[in-house]
Amino acid sequence: MSKKIFNSIWVVALAVLLASLVFIMGITYSYFSDVQEAQLRIETELAAKGTAMDGADYLDGLGEKNYRITWIGRDGTVLYDSQADSAEMENHLEREEVQQALKTGHGESCRYSKTLSEELLYCAELLPDGTVVRLSSVRSTVPMLLLGFAQPIAIVAVLALALSFWLAARLSKKIVEPINALDPDKPSDYIGKEAYTEIEPLLLKMRMQQNEIAKNQAELEKTSQIRQEFTANASHELKTPLHAISGYAELLENGMVKQSDIRPFAGKIRLEAQRMTQLVGDIIDLTQLDGGADGMQWELCDLKSIAENAADSLQSAAAESSVELTVSGESASVRGIPQVLYSIVYNLCDNAIKYNRPDGKVSVSVAKEPSSVRLCVADTGIGISEEHQSRIFERFYRVDKSRSKEVGGTGLGLSIVKHGLMIHHARLELDSAPGKGTIFTIHFPTAE
Ligand code: ADP
Repeated sequence: MSKKIFNSIWVVALAVLLASLVFIMGITYSYFSDVQEAQLRIETELAAKGTAMDGADYLDGLGEKNYRITWIGRDGTVLYDSQADSAEMENHLEREEVQQALKTGHGESCRYSKTLSEELLYCAELLPDGTVVRLSSVRSTVPMLLLGFAQPIAIVAVLALALSFWLAARLSKKIVEPINALDPDKPSDYIGKEAYTEIEPLLLKMRMQQNEIAKNQAELEKTSQIRQEFTANASHELKTPLHAISGYAELLENGMVKQSDIRPFAGKIRLEAQRMTQLVGDIIDLTQLDGGADGMQWELCDLKSIAENAADSLQSAAAESSVELTVSGESASVRGIPQVLYSIVYNLCDNAIKYNRPDGKVSVSVAKEPSSVRLCVADTGIGISEEHQSRIFERFYRVDKSRSKEVGGTGLGLSIVKHGLMIHHARLELDSAPGKGTIFTIHFPTAE
């Protein structure tokens, strides 16, 4: 970067230098041309005056070297020339400057001489006797001028080159220094400092991105920790029924079970296997929801029908626990994943039956609200005390472990509910008091 900045400054300085030189040369050339013309005019006037008084003697006496002096007679014959033999010269009457002088008293022209490959300036003045005095001089061309200025130009160019080199090196160092000194891990340290004003937007962006990365990192670590804990807990939960099954099988294998106890033993094995199936099913559901329910179909669902279906599947379990399970309310559309909505209602109703009392009630209701659809699952069960209310949605968290095991709970039901609700952007309210019962109220966004 430093090299790039240096090169840019260096090139710019060089370009400015060259442009200034060309510009100055242009101005100097035009100035010198004007001065030369003015001088030629004055000299011509003086020579004309002298010639009018003394004729060719005056011109001879001048011994002029810088100008060519020609005296032209009234008929165009050359009477005198300072550089050639006048007798051999052609008639000069038709020369532009001579014609002009004859008409107006003064004439000027500028011609390019092919033989000398330079520009010649002519100035002519009419004398009172009708003859014309003409002076000419070589106009300095740009290369001639450059040649004359070669030495000062070279000195200025070398000085300017050295100066721009030094400036480019200093400037590029000064620009890059604060950037090199910057610690990209601590952008906040440089915000507000004078040397970093220009790159402050970049520093602010860096800080924002670093905060974002830190946040994401923390979230990732938390998720990874939850996953690890979940795997450990799930393995532990699976081990318990597996141990029980292999224990019962071993007893049966060794003939340690009486003939009359074989059936109850087989029943126990089936129950433990059922628990495992239930647990594995819940783990699969949860894993799927954890991945954001990818690939699952979203559609318009009637929440009342879903509630009725879930309740139908649980009627026999409710009857076994002497609990009355009812569904009421109106049809209401919700945009969602039918299986997930079903498992939300199913798990809430299942809990409401499991943690109820004999002759208790579970009422499910669906109602339309101005901007949402409300699902309510209320029971007359044992309730949940305040301190457990925020924790029951954690994986494998149970208020009463033995009661949960006894009623076939996996500890994952409410985690599945929580994840399902998150996917559907639904809001949950929990109202519960020990001994009185529990009401789960969910607000789904309306399908419109
Ligand atoms: P489980 O499989 O143990 O029922 P859940 O995640 O469904 O696991 O519920 C977590 C815990 O919350 C349960 O063990 C129970 O203690 C408590 N719980 C859930 N629903 C109710 C309810 N309707 N009434 C009382 N306690 C409940």
